[in-house]
Amino acid sequence: MVIKDDPTLMFTNAGMNQWKDIILGTRDPEPRRRADTQKCLRVSGKHNDLEEVGHDTYHHTMFEMLGNWSFGDYFKEGAIDMAWEYLVDVLKLNPEDLYVTVFEGSPEENIPRDDEAAKYWAKHVPEDHIINGNKHDNFWEMGDTGPCGPCSEIHVDSRTPEQRTASGISGRELVNKDDPQVIEIWNLVFMQFNRKADGSLEKLSMNVIDTGMGFERLVRMLQGKHSNYDTDVFQPIIKAEQQLTGLKYVTFEEEQDAPITKEQDDINVAMRVCADHLRAVSFSIADGQLPSNAKAGYVIRRILRRAVRYAYTFLGQKEGFLYKLVPTLVVEMGDAFPELKAQQQLISKVMKEEEDAFLRTLDKGIGMLSDAIDELKSQGGKELNGEKAFRLFDTYGFPLDLTELICRENGLMVNEEQFNVEMQKQKERARNAAAVENSDWTELAQGEQQFVGYDYTEYECHILRYRKVTQKKNEFYELVLDYTPFYGEMGGQVGDAGVICNEAETIEIIDSKRENNQTVHIVKQLPKDPTAQFMACVDTDKRDASAANHTATHLLDYALKQVLGDHVEQKGSFVSPDTLRFDFSHFQKVTDEELRQVERMVNDMIRQNIPLDEHREVPFDEAKKLGAIALFGEKYGDKVRVVRFGPSCEFCGGIHASSTGRIGFFKIVAESSVAAGIRRIEAKTGKECEELLYKTEDLLRVVKSFFNNAKDLQGVIRKYIEEHDTMKKEIETFQAQAVERIARQLVEKAREVNGVKVVRSVLPMEPAAAKDLAFKIRAAVEGSLLCVLGTTYQEKPQLSIMMSDDMVSEHGLNAGQMVREAAKLIQGGGGGQPHYAQAGGKNADGLSAAVDKVIELAKL
Ligand code: ATP
Ligand code: MG
Repeated sequence: MVIKDDPTLMFTNAGMNQWKDIILGTRDPEPRRRADTQKCLRVSGKHNDLEEVGHDTYHHTMFEMLGNWSFGDYFKEGAIDMAWEYLVDVLKLNPEDLYVTVFEGSPEENIPRDDEAAKYWAKHVPEDHIINGNKHDNFWEMGDTGPCGPCSEIHVDSRTPEQRTASGISGRELVNKDDPQVIEIWNLVFMQFNRKADGSLEKLSMNVIDTGMGFERLVRMLQGKHSNYDTDVFQPIIKAEQQLTGLKYVTFEEEQDAPITKEQDDINVAMRVCADHLRAVSFSIADGQLPSNAKAGYVIRRILRRAVRYAYTFLGQKEGFLYKLVPTLVVEMGDAFPELKAQQQLISKVMKEEEDAFLRTLDKGIGMLSDAIDELKSQGGKELNGEKAFRLFDTYGFPLDLTELICRENGLMVNEEQFNVEMQKQKERARNAAAVENSDWTELAQGEQQFVGYDYTEYECHILRYRKVTQKKNEFYELVLDYTPFYGEMGGQVGDAGVICNEAETIEIIDSKRENNQTVHIVKQLPKDPTAQFMACVDTDKRDASAANHTATHLLDYALKQVLGDHVEQKGSFVSPDTLRFDFSHFQKVTDEELRQVERMVNDMIRQNIPLDEHREVPFDEAKKLGAIALFGEKYGDKVRVVRFGPSCEFCGGIHASSTGRIGFFKIVAESSVAAGIRRIEAKTGKECEELLYKTEDLLRVVKSFFNNAKDLQGVIRKYIEEHDTMKKEIETFQAQAVERIARQLVEKAREVNGVKVVRSVLPMEPAAAKDLAFKIRAAVEGSLLCVLGTTYQEKPQLSIMMSDDMVSEHGLNAGQMVREAAKLIQGGGGGQPHYAQAGGKNADGLSAAVDKVIELAKL
């Protein structure tokens, strides 16, 4: 469900995503007939059903799409016959309830009505069950460009007899009219065209059948229900929700007997939202996509937050709730999807942490909102500013409907128009930031690319096709070569860099990435003669360093499982020439001893110099039998590559060292947490470790030189620390004695003005001691006191005023005010209490004048 190596799509949103490279002609289409079930998620981009989910009873965020496929095998007639046979003969749906649509044609695109499809349908259904559909419903496109074609949908009229009598109209009139009981269950797509960047269509080199049927909708028809949520796909989860909340869910049937209140409807919607989003979030986490604040992770976070606020608002759940439903989901779906069962603990943990974090933000948002409401009420306002509502949404994830709900409870409205304006602005900002423009491919030669990079780093080649890409005003070109030794970024390993060259010119390849099962090479400029022959040469220094890091990652994975246990599951990996990063599931900090154990194990394997044992094109099941470790949520072909270094055996397409010895040395440099239940290890190998060692050695050398290159450095440092502590204590004692003495002297020397003892002194002293001195003087004087001290410490002046309480209560003086006024003379500022205040400053020369100023201000 989570797409990892395609920059154009974050989540699988249709069954065909997984076959895109076959349809685009870059992967072998055999076998040409297939059938499958595919987890889909429609929450972003071209297909986004998120806002409907829960409010209606037949759109989900995550659903299973059942499909059958023909890649240049059967076409329209075969697809229509089989669909009919399956629904009517096998599943026994009532043919009278079925309606089909066909594309009505498009004069401006010069495409006629799909008479062909209509003709094949006429074999099975009466004419009045065949409906013309427009481009919106009956012409399917993968995206702005790419494969497309007319389609034919099958709709089911699932109304109850009462509903049919009451409405008096036929199902035909309700097809594609958003009626919740007349819904599409299956779409047969006949892909015949390729849409080019200029909008024009060309014929696809092979006809493709792509069908998609929603499993949850089909189950509903088979179980004679009228809501997807009343089927046994969702009922167990809804039952668990009822148990946890003590609230009731009213099914479609129950609702027919007695109409429900607005409050009950809110509860129904919220329970549907939670049941649906539980699936989407759990499956995403199981597929390796954790909630986060960017890209795909942010989409998942938003889904989870949507569920939390429905549960919070309508189900009274002020604490984490969704995670409590995970066990039920695992019981229901864990057999069919073992990745759920295997990662149940991780899913619950991540979900709970996300829920808790969002509930804390919600609390903060509610606080902000009540302040805003109070302010508005005090001004007699009736409408909350839409910008404010948007800010709540943007920073606290506080959705408009919740803001509105709380405002309504306070008799206020929200300016929705302003909110939408802000929302629109933000969307445009996001769109501009992400916009990538691709031109059409310019084809220079026919053919499929061969990757030769496992065996070669240099190879003769021609350019098959190229195109221009514009992103944020930057222009570059993408090249596809017939033979390439370049590894395109995939599976966490960065792409190769290098050159393609011939006698006439040298073109730098700045990066390589994978797209549709082939390597795409990024260049700043095109060769003068793109049809010439070139030598493709990989930068082997970088490649060897990456390869060593990748191999080290496998050894690390193995060692972690040995040391920490089998629950360690790879959750992310990044491998570049200078570092490696490995994320994995583990529920507490990895201790220093454990890290050391892992390092020792990996370095042992490096010294054993275990050769790479590589198996290409191994059938998937055989690879599993070899004991190779596959990743959850990773897409594997029928044939896989297995990489083994002694006991470490993994499914992997990456570039590896020819033997573990080439890694040289392995050192972990950091261990941290990236999310609930996920730890991250960063490590270095080979030359990078050598540099690390030099740095550490240099540091140690400098430190030793501080201590006259003492042999027993630890002992010497420890002794220094002890001495330091002792001296510090002694100094404190001396200081206290000195302060005592000075205080006595100053009090003795004090003048008396109108019955007030005035202590005045300017002297060098530390700030803490100055404070101590002021308090000692106050303690030593019985009657009225004005004590003004100007102290300097490291050339910084400080002014302190200390008075007896009667100076404040009877003379009306305020030390804080006085110190602020006098501090101007030392270019400083300060403050304090009425009887004691301090100010620091910059100009020590003004200190004496400042002291006099204070005495003057006292007007004794
Ligand atoms: P609708 O008009 O009902 O949204 P659609 O035109 O978006 O459907 P397709 O893109 O043709 O549907 O997808 C094929 C099938 O997948 C549909 O016939 C339906 O059974 C199912 N399907 C599509 N979207 C959803 C969804 N959000 N939740 C559940 N099933 C869905
Ligand atoms: Mg739709």
